[in-house]
Amino acid sequence: MTDRPRIAGRAGRHPPSLTLELKRIAAELAARGRPVWDFGLGETKGDLAPHIRDAGSRAFLDEHTQYGNPAGLLELRQAALRWLDLGEYGTDDVVITGGAKQGLFNVFLALCSPGDTVLVDSAPWVSYLPMIDAAGARAQVVQPAAGARNHLKTSAADLGREFDAHPGARLFLINSPVNPTGQVYTAAELEALLAVCVERRAFFVLDRLYWRLVFDGAEFPPPRVDAETKPWLIQVDGLSKNFRRTGGIRIGWTIAPTDLTHAMVNLQSHYTSGPPIPTQLAALAGISKPYDPELRNDLERKRNLLRDATCRIPQLSVWPTAGAFYSFWDVRSCFGKETPNGTPINSSSDLARYLLDSAGVVTAPGSAFCQEGYLRISFATPDDHITNGARAVGEALAALR
Ligand code: PLP
Repeated sequence: MTDRPRIAGRAGRHPPSLTLELKRIAAELAARGRPVWDFGLGETKGDLAPHIRDAGSRAFLDEHTQYGNPAGLLELRQAALRWLDLGEYGTDDVVITGGAKQGLFNVFLALCSPGDTVLVDSAPWVSYLPMIDAAGARAQVVQPAAGARNHLKTSAADLGREFDAHPGARLFLINSPVNPTGQVYTAAELEALLAVCVERRAFFVLDRLYWRLVFDGAEFPPPRVDAETKPWLIQVDGLSKNFRRTGGIRIGWTIAPTDLTHAMVNLQSHYTSGPPIPTQLAALAGISKPYDPELRNDLERKRNLLRDATCRIPQLSVWPTAGAFYSFWDVRSCFGKETPNGTPINSSSDLARYLLDSAGVVTAPGSAFCQEGYLRISFATPDDHITNGARAVGEALAALR
């Protein structure tokens, strides 16, 4: 007998993806006939666009089911460059992946040696840290000096300080629009961060998965692409968030320097042989048409609905959402209180659990994003969940003593 763990640490020490778990919890409550107001998983709802659906079905009917190029279909790599308006790159600089997740994991595997430091922005999306750990690297969360005052955005000064503390850091990973905070980095903020990375000879990885979902007439500011930035700039994107009902299609794309894309393709040639051809063809149909802003407009309307429904709940401080489909609630005023049956509320998980059990409201605790004191609310949810859920939250918080 040996007491050696059966599952290796890098796989055994991580809980399952919280946000996917929230989808399961919401479905389970609904199946038991309980009222559920679902602000959990960040997933677009509604009907799949017919041209995406038909392209996927046609791919099977036409038997596009043989092995493909592990880098992805040439037409899809060309389309990804047009979609991102990245004429400075060629198709060798694009890798098609199984969702943005695989693109990110490829990047960490290809760039990090065991023990390397990866800097991540201050409220990292739930899967960044497990992926970095599984790649053998060490994640270091950059804490912004301005903290909540700057809605947890990382500044160039914050990043510079962190590079001073970790001079060998391989890369800085940033997400904008930000899941979970709903903030969007301005062109100037992004440029300042990119400049720090270029100066430090570190990679700047921009996860721009929600880039079409920017509100109030603003547009996503793309990073500077030129001879100075190109060797260090990596952009990760995909089909999951900017269209309706496309999260399960599992297609993403990474645009990066050719030495990195070659390493990524090499890796995935061994472990996936590249993403499925039928879903690549569905994605190709999705990004080849001019973008229809209908989803963005609808989400902006839902954002306003949620804002109006929550602005008078005194226990919440709600940040303005500039993009993506998340509202980040500062709930620290609830800490130190008790539920009506005497359970203490001392953390975002305690509060998320209380809202779930007492009111059927599904939220994600800020602790899952390394920010205790907040709740993440996904408003990509039906309107009645927003209005009834906000009322249920108001009542549940008013009952805290
Ligand atoms: N990056 C961010 C910020 C996300 O929110 C998600 C999914 O929720 C991903 C990456 C992964 O995206 P995909 O579903 O394309 O793998």
